[in-house]
Amino acid sequence: MIDLHVHSTASDGSESPGAVVRMAAAAGLTAIALTDHDTQSGIAQARIEAARSGIELIAGTELSLEWVQGAMHMVVLFLEPGPGPLQDRLAGLREGRTERNSRIVARLAELGLPISEAEILELAGGESVGRPHIAAVMVSRGYVETIFDAFDRYLAWGKPAYMARPRLSPEEAVGLALESKAVPILAHPHTLGLNTSEEVSTTLRRLSGAGLVGIECYYPLYSPFEREGYAALAERFGLKPSGGSDYHGTYKPDVELGIGRGNLAVADQLLDALRPA
Ligand code: AMP
Ligand code: ZN
Ligand code: FE
Ligand code: FE
Repeated sequence: MIDLHVHSTASDGSESPGAVVRMAAAAGLTAIALTDHDTQSGIAQARIEAARSGIELIAGTELSLEWVQGAMHMVVLFLEPGPGPLQDRLAGLREGRTERNSRIVARLAELGLPISEAEILELAGGESVGRPHIAAVMVSRGYVETIFDAFDRYLAWGKPAYMARPRLSPEEAVGLALESKAVPILAHPHTLGLNTSEEVSTTLRRLSGAGLVGIECYYPLYSPFEREGYAALAERFGLKPSGGSDYHGTYKPDVELGIGRGNLAVADQLLDALRPA
């Protein structure tokens, strides 16, 4: 089994890149993709550990894209760290995070929930800082009980401390990934907020037309029924099935590496189909 969607301390996971690889090897996985938000700063450490542990490490990232109805995320697999069309855009996306995080902090202060940017950076410790870190600081201050509560009451879309940040359009992101010889995958498609099968068709036709390669069919939240449904949809729109746990360690306490909420199993054969030509 494999896991093609994993976060580390390089973004909003709680475990270091090396620790994540060691855990994957211990769990018997044969490959994992490190897909930290807007950064590849964990890849070097993960690669060293993967060589030691004898498992395959796929370099990647995860991007949040422009989408009005919900959240559209793209996992990019086989993205080699270093200069390149998509790689060169990541620093700008991280700057957009920094600026957005300041606006969230200012809003929280107005709401009577002061926290400092220094404390967020210290807790995050990595290159890509985001809302889960802000949520964790809010928990440590006693403003909310859990990270989930912080999102549910303040940080999620539509809540009082939600702030937008600059994002790539789906076409831009897919195009840049392909120019970088990487493999763009539509992540957790349920968060798109598509309500009718017509919306599903329109959206998947649009993304597939832009050059999208794959779609996550295997994800912790999905029942076996839903996984089969997504796999059928993938086939219909010429997309390859992918899957992963979206592991974040203690930032998403109910999700375990490889197995998600216990019943996730992503077959290693999927990986061979996804490899760039
Ligand atoms: P950011 O990229 O900083 O805007 O934060 C996005 C990340 O926050 C996602 O990748 C999830 O890890 C987490 N997240 C988003 N929405 C929620 C939510 N409603 N509850 C818990 N975590 C969430
Ligand atoms: Zn995340
Ligand atoms: Fe995501
Ligand atoms: Fe993710």
